[in-house]
Amino acid sequence: MKNASPVIPPGSVLGILGGGQLGRMFCMEARRMGYRTLVWTGGLEAPAIVVADESIDAPFDSPEALETFVTKAAVATVEFENIPRETLEAVAARIQLHPSPNAVAICQHREREKAFLKANGIPCAPFAVVASAEELAAAIQQIGTPAVLKTAAFGYDGKGQLKLEGGEDPAEVWTSFATERAVLEAFIPFEMELSVMVARSADGSMAVYDPAENRHRHHILDLSIVPGRVSPAVAAEAKVIACEVAEALDYRGIMGVEFFYLSNGSLLVNEMAPRPHNSGHHTLDACATSQFEQQVRVICGLPAGSTRLLSPVVMLNLLGDMWPGETEPPDWTPLFADSSAFLHLYGKRRAMGRRKMGHANFLGSDTDEALRRAQSIKTALLRHG
Ligand code: AMP
Repeated sequence: MKNASPVIPPGSVLGILGGGQLGRMFCMEARRMGYRTLVWTGGLEAPAIVVADESIDAPFDSPEALETFVTKAAVATVEFENIPRETLEAVAARIQLHPSPNAVAICQHREREKAFLKANGIPCAPFAVVASAEELAAAIQQIGTPAVLKTAAFGYDGKGQLKLEGGEDPAEVWTSFATERAVLEAFIPFEMELSVMVARSADGSMAVYDPAENRHRHHILDLSIVPGRVSPAVAAEAKVIACEVAEALDYRGIMGVEFFYLSNGSLLVNEMAPRPHNSGHHTLDACATSQFEQQVRVICGLPAGSTRLLSPVVMLNLLGDMWPGETEPPDWTPLFADSSAFLHLYGKRRAMGRRKMGHANFLGSDTDEALRRAQSIKTALLRHG
């Protein structure tokens, strides 16, 4: 059935499951291209609704919401992976949904994700599946320590993770972890974290972006440096692996593949995101086609746009701890004074510690120069925050 679905032209309604900032930026790009947008929030706070043509503010298990969504939308996509599988299946039974429920289900669950990587010969950290204290004890024996215990479901940004140094009591750890299933992963002493965005079209063709080098703060993405400071051979290999992942998932849409880069030169896949990704936000200002436009193009059956990097860039995440008060924004004067810095705010009303409030892209003559400017603004913001 490759390429069997018709092209969805501008003017059509694009449905999006989830209403967070990724949905918001998708809607903004879709509207620029003449599409209409319908956001189904799932009943969660949704910064996307103010930029969508229409929204449905109901939980994902609402039959009425489903009916409205599939009646109005010509095609659907997701902006976060933790949409119940039943909802994904129900939507896909009625209208085109890209990526497929199966691809999303694999990416939303670490156990399935790891099993998928292993089955397809894609390099990842050694792991063991754990469903009891006894299995945890056996997994620690098998994997060794240090290791990272991760919940199988609903994990992101370091949530549901515990580092084990060795010597812990598996029974105590398992009780306190309070989850049904988990994955114990070898701790990887990586040199760098990288990610690659790839868009795969209906005909299987792929458009892949240059790898981003990612730095985290409190387990949350802090800065993305693009192009990542690795050799051309490593960058090329990361792109190849990202394409292998998309191919093996028979993926249609935009996805992010996160990697650990080790000092011995090897790359391991950490996880995949079946949607635009925080580390792809630089594409809004620094690439010929943004990751959000790419998502629109590919789900609508249009050819993917150029992924060309137009300028070295550093993306700085703006987290809630940069806000002086919950409803008091930072002084943006230094940022606006930088003529090659571009501010993107998500319109969230309340700032909280690690909440993603926005990001800024710093274009530069090279990444070091852009990084210096991003860091000086970050320091200023954190001082005021
Ligand atoms: P995750 O939610 O799995 O992406 O993990 C969040 C962050 O925790 C990653 O970006 C890494 O910085 C760190 N991390 C996760 N898994 C490992 C691992 N196996 N070894 C070392 N660091 C890890």
